[in-house]
Amino acid sequence: MNPNTTHAIEVLKADSSKISSVDFENLVFGNIFTDHMLSCDFRNGAWEKPIIKPYEPMLLDPSAKVFHYGQAIFEGMKAYKDDNDEVWLFRPEQNLERFNKSAVRLAMPEVPDDLFLEGMKQLIDLERDWVKKGKGNTLYIRPFMIAIGTGVVAAPSTQYRFMIILSPAKSYYSGEVKVIIAEHFSRAANGGIGAAKAAGNYSAQFYPTKLANEKGFQQIIWTDDATHTKLEEAGTMNVFFRINDTLYTAPTSERILDGVTRKSLIQLARSLDIKVEERSVLVTELVDAQKDGSLKEVFGAGTAAVVNPIVGFSYADMYYELPKLENSFAAMLKEKLTDIQYKIDSDPFGWTVKV
Ligand SMILES: *Cc1c(COP(=O)(O)O)cnc(C)c1O
Repeated sequence: MNPNTTHAIEVLKADSSKISSVDFENLVFGNIFTDHMLSCDFRNGAWEKPIIKPYEPMLLDPSAKVFHYGQAIFEGMKAYKDDNDEVWLFRPEQNLERFNKSAVRLAMPEVPDDLFLEGMKQLIDLERDWVKKGKGNTLYIRPFMIAIGTGVVAAPSTQYRFMIILSPAKSYYSGEVKVIIAEHFSRAANGGIGAAKAAGNYSAQFYPTKLANEKGFQQIIWTDDATHTKLEEAGTMNVFFRINDTLYTAPTSERILDGVTRKSLIQLARSLDIKVEERSVLVTELVDAQKDGSLKEVFGAGTAAVVNPIVGFSYADMYYELPKLENSFAAMLKEKLTDIQYKIDSDPFGWTVKV
């Protein structure tokens, strides 16, 4: 844990709100941002005074290191409103911890706990009206940090900016998701930055994903870079496989992002007496299980979509369709998890945190 900042947050309010111009029924994910943002710079070895101010573009020097060497990390979280107009976060300390792990891996300074957590709460509190009631309505939270120090020298920056921006979002439904299992490209390697939510991990996926899109597939399930035999995870989701009545998901490693949704679903499933094994599933196992009918479900798990069922996968130029299930684990776990997030159900795990 990191020392608390001694600085109170300065608040500069926007003159007017753009909220009345937003069509909350037809939101496109991640396109509209609220009236304010939080910003805090790191200079001379210390975090400066944080400020909450009107959302606006910012000026950066063209030689800022983020543009040249990709020192950039982020998080993705959500806020939910219950029927009593209270706003809740879901396991925010997990995101803080992961953010600072990413920071260390990218040779960036760690963010103080209270800047991340209290700053986030204060910003969301100011934007309460942007969090709409009703299941499926959320406020997506995007904390991030970039290197703002100047100079085209391949060395870590000495100046950084930590920011939080907020985007109202409807429950994310990406349509039927078909995936290709990676045979050549990799998103991560041992010793690399796969376990960090670092910007470069995502740009590295764009080209292989574009090729997959051209073949009619929405996403790629990545395999281990060394042998391409072990199933790992998808673009911004961890992946679960249900063979008979057991759920399997890859263990976290240097190559895998330690998802909050993943770890929550594992706990939730076990509490419902569903057997969960954290172990590598081989591509051959998946194909065999599909052929003998024991493969029941494959689904992605991540903050944006919560649970995203996969309808089929392609491997070695063969397409395999998954059965259509009435009572899927995916649907059941999604329901249970979102009921906790929206305070519809009790929260026996102590996951929810009031804003
Ligand atoms: C963010 C992310 C996930 C999901 O993490 P959550 O904490 O559940 O949102 C999984 N894989 C990758 C690569 C990610 O970037």
